[in-house]
Amino acid sequence: MGKPGRPPIRGLLAPSLTPLMAAGVLLAVSGSPGVAQIDELFRKLMHGDAAASGNGPQVPPDSVPWSGQSGASGDPLMTSQAILQAAARFGPCVAQTWPEVARRGVSRQSFAQATEHLEPDLRIMDLLDAQPEFTKSVWDYLDLLVNDERLQAGREVLARYDRTFAAAERAFGVDRFVVAAIWGIESNYGSASGDRPVIRSTATLACIGRRQAYFHEEFLSALEILHHGDIRPEHFKGSWAGAFGPTQFMPTAFKRYAVDFDGDGRRDVVDSIPDVIASTANNLHLDGWMPGQAWGYEIVLPQGFDFRLADRTRQLAAADWERLGVRRADAKPFPRPTERASLLLPAGARGPAFLVLNNFRVIMRYNPAEAYALAIGHLADRLRGEGPIVQPWPREERALTAQELFELQQRLSTRGFNLGDPDGRVGAKTRAAIRDFQIQAGLIPDGYASAAVLDRLRGP
Ligand code: CA
Repeated sequence: MGKPGRPPIRGLLAPSLTPLMAAGVLLAVSGSPGVAQIDELFRKLMHGDAAASGNGPQVPPDSVPWSGQSGASGDPLMTSQAILQAAARFGPCVAQTWPEVARRGVSRQSFAQATEHLEPDLRIMDLLDAQPEFTKSVWDYLDLLVNDERLQAGREVLARYDRTFAAAERAFGVDRFVVAAIWGIESNYGSASGDRPVIRSTATLACIGRRQAYFHEEFLSALEILHHGDIRPEHFKGSWAGAFGPTQFMPTAFKRYAVDFDGDGRRDVVDSIPDVIASTANNLHLDGWMPGQAWGYEIVLPQGFDFRLADRTRQLAAADWERLGVRRADAKPFPRPTERASLLLPAGARGPAFLVLNNFRVIMRYNPAEAYALAIGHLADRLRGEGPIVQPWPREERALTAQELFELQQRLSTRGFNLGDPDGRVGAKTRAAIRDFQIQAGLIPDGYASAAVLDRLRGP
């Protein structure tokens, strides 16, 4: 339920963000929630915001029934008939995991307690295959996620848990402001971390629908977590995809990254703030965070800049960028001239430009979307006391819909630009193809999937 005057929540984000996503990572990336869940993130945040401002009663997600419809993916496992058939076999499907669960040291009693009377949550099938109707631009996304309310809440959290943040910073070498930003963006500082039982969600997804292999492991890991007693069973709740706690660990990510930082013997990333802060810092640390390095800088490009350099795979030292005329937007010098950075233009040549470093890529392992990493990095900078993004966004431009992105890819493909199978998502290949087309058409080759590029493709 959005606020009056706002578009519906579902799909707020998607395709205008999906163009910003690296291709082929989605749900398979480390512990990260993935694309579908970023959508969920918006739903939660909007719920959280609405709840905070007292804007009407919230509908608990479990009260929304399954639509009974086939999914939008067209996957044979997502037809309504296939879902009903799999739902009919749900009990045996869960039961037959027992030998494998037993080999992981889970007791028969724990298994029985967790799975007795378990019913599938078929509403999740709608969420798994939701087709976004609306698109959101990167600036809308940043406006929504990095605002005064969230900054205020973030500053309060940083002050309140100052000693814990300092201790985690010493232990893991990860910037406290980035950890605080993840907390703020994943759950609005804990007010929106999800209320679906993790066991039920992961069991449903392990036995029904098109992501069973992926969620089989998440379900088994969730059972292990429950057996070890790290999380209180009644608090083991999260998003529809099974991410739980204020910083949204998936069960497998929990196993890799969670730490007991308050010394009670339990890794409780739901109810222990020290464990939440330290586990999130440890996640970034193990994913390659470089202590003392920034995530990136807003930069200003010189006149006549060669936009073909705006390619995430092209990394140059900060000093080399400087030689090309690139300057920081706040006019400060690059503090470490040898650190390697790539150029990011989230809204093409007409929007702000950024140099992004290793730590930006580490944030993307948490959640594989460039706009997500940009929001985290920017919120962290703001919490540290730095100012807003200096250069204006091209706010008059609209984001292309998924169908339009698909059409853009098809038209590029028809014209002989190689980008693989059109999928409505803009990854590195599509951007390269757009860039080649722009060069051929005499446009600025920024690789950005704009409405202007699509118009040009529709022409002769
Ligand atoms: Ca603990």
